[in-house]
Amino acid sequence: MDTEILIVGAGLCGLHAATQLQAAGRSVLVLEKSRGLGGRAATRRWNNRPVDHGAQFFTAKNPQFVAQVARWLESGVCHEWTRGLHHFSGGQLHEPTDHSHPRYACRSGMAALGRTLGGPLGEIVQRESKVSRLAVVEGQWQATLEDGRLVRSRSVLLTPPPAQSRALLAESAPMAAQELNLHPSWPCHAVAACFSRMELPWQGIQAPDDEVLTWIGHDTSKRPELHPEHTILMLHAAPGFSTTNADASEGEIAAALLRRASEMTSLDLHSPLEIFLQRWRYALPTSSKTPCSPIAHTFPAPLVVAGDWCHGGRIEGAWMAGRDAADRLLAILR
Ligand SMILES: Cc1cc2nc3c(=O)[nH]c(=O)nc-3n(C[C@H](O)[C@H](O)[C@H](O)COP(=O)(O)OP(=O)(O)OC[C@H]3O[C@@H](n4cnc5c(N)ncnc54)[C@H](O)[C@@H]3O)c2cc1C
Repeated sequence: MDTEILIVGAGLCGLHAATQLQAAGRSVLVLEKSRGLGGRAATRRWNNRPVDHGAQFFTAKNPQFVAQVARWLESGVCHEWTRGLHHFSGGQLHEPTDHSHPRYACRSGMAALGRTLGGPLGEIVQRESKVSRLAVVEGQWQATLEDGRLVRSRSVLLTPPPAQSRALLAESAPMAAQELNLHPSWPCHAVAACFSRMELPWQGIQAPDDEVLTWIGHDTSKRPELHPEHTILMLHAAPGFSTTNADASEGEIAAALLRRASEMTSLDLHSPLEIFLQRWRYALPTSSKTPCSPIAHTFPAPLVVAGDWCHGGRIEGAWMAGRDAADRLLAILR
């Protein structure tokens, strides 16, 4: 056996679970398919500057996460970005009404969260290691990696978005795979657009009911010192728009989102200097209802499946789910 616990995915859920399990004295290996850590808390280097093309900011409500954020604030991993977000509804842009809770961001981009959680784990986190098949052989898990390597473990914790975990479990644990059907995700087309510097009176605009564009983020305002000459906006398409336009070209998607952003802001945003598009196939859980427990089975071999969907999506939910998943695994393996 190569490890007691194999964790698939080095997003915030997988990394936080790994931290807890390692602290409990367990032997852990984390396999991550990408080069970077943090999953959907993602940052792209664009013209050598960070741009958040996944999660935009995070909030903290649970006391345990509030304490974690306090440590990140103290060590400079994150900062309070804003307390008030503008809101577009009824055809009008509204000033923030709720200033009650801070929204946090990271100066070097949201990927800093993954680096911060993953750094202390060192070599137990292996990047560019995509698990392409999971099987149970003689009571042990056997993961086959895309590059042909085999990893054997006593137990597995799966943290990819539910549809991706489901695909891995279809053969080896069909019951768990079926349970994951209850947790679908929305896609999201995210477009970054770079303009010559503009002074903007808002950090972000939420438009949850719009059919085309649900978010305009003023990415530059998280780190103005890095972008003296430019303004970068991050536009997130509505779930229905992202689904209907799954195969539309980058140019078509960007044009539609920029047109809508121009209407919402009364600015001429039709002609950016540069754009990029990120197509998130599984961006957010469709439901943000009450928390649910991670899926846990002892047959055919110890298995836990978790992720942001256990706590209604979001950064905080992923971190909390990592704690729950670690607790659940420790209970099963006792
Ligand atoms: C466009 C967008 C905007 C968002 N905005 C916000 C926001 O403003 N605020 C907020 O709080 N949250 C936001 N979120 C949600 C937030 O990013 C997620 O809730 C959180 O990051 C999910 O963490 P996770 O660990 O559960 O999953 P993930 O981050 O998805 O981690 C899963 C990991 O598994 C890896 N993986 C998948 N398959 C395999 C495999 N076969 N082998 C190995 N590794 C694999 C993936 O590469 C990934 O790193 C947003 C997300 C998106 C996409």
